[in-house]
Amino acid sequence: MNMQIDILTLFPEMFEGPFKHSIIKRAKEKNLVDIQLINIRDFAIDKHRRVDDYQYGGGSGMVMMIEPIARCIDSLREKKTYDEIIYMSPDGQLLDQKLSNKLSTFNNILILCGHYKGIDERIREQYITQEISIGDYVLSGGELAAAVVTDSIVRLIPGVLNDETSALSDSFQDDLLSPPAYTRPSEFQGLKVPPVLLSGNDKEIEKWRLEKAFERTKERRPDLLNEE
Ligand code: SAH
Repeated sequence: MNMQIDILTLFPEMFEGPFKHSIIKRAKEKNLVDIQLINIRDFAIDKHRRVDDYQYGGGSGMVMMIEPIARCIDSLREKKTYDEIIYMSPDGQLLDQKLSNKLSTFNNILILCGHYKGIDERIREQYITQEISIGDYVLSGGELAAAVVTDSIVRLIPGVLNDETSALSDSFQDDLLSPPAYTRPSEFQGLKVPPVLLSGNDKEIEKWRLEKAFERTKERRPDLLNEE
């Protein structure tokens, strides 16, 4: 069974660019993932298709209303069971490779994108099983964040990347950053590729890469080496 990702948003068009190219495009073509973009506005309850309203208690900024989101999730849940119902939020769990790995093993996930001031808190209490932040900064909406999460998950689904070992050798996969990479030409304006990479000696190359990965991690992200 392929992985299904349902994304609930007020701005489905924002996903057109990121999902129409490169690896996500290939994954969809190979039927390894099915991504549905669902417009929350289609579940609005009044004829003006209103989806946001003023905050109780005052204060600037609109809040996404509970009914359209609840109706949307309820109607989807009639047809399937989700492994996780995710809300993108700056106060959620920080996305890292470990979390992406975990999410990539699921069959059905739903990702809810907020906008404006965010969503009515009762949705978070009643429906959401996981909240994810992509970093300690505030975006205008959850769409870009959901695209980041989706990309990081989809490339981990078996069969998506051509070279199966490729994702495994990426940064963070073993708590190490990636070693430097080079391609042709072997010399450019006097700048040479490290000779070991041209030696054809796989064992030496592997050793060199591991050394460089350690060096780089120690220099840039010593915190990764201290984790258990
Ligand atoms: N008032 C909220 C921010 C709302 S930003 C707060 O201060 O916490 C509007 C929407 O953008 C949010 O509902 C969320 O879905 C999304 N968003 C903003 N920053 C994000 C981040 N760092 N990670 C994930 N989603 C984010």
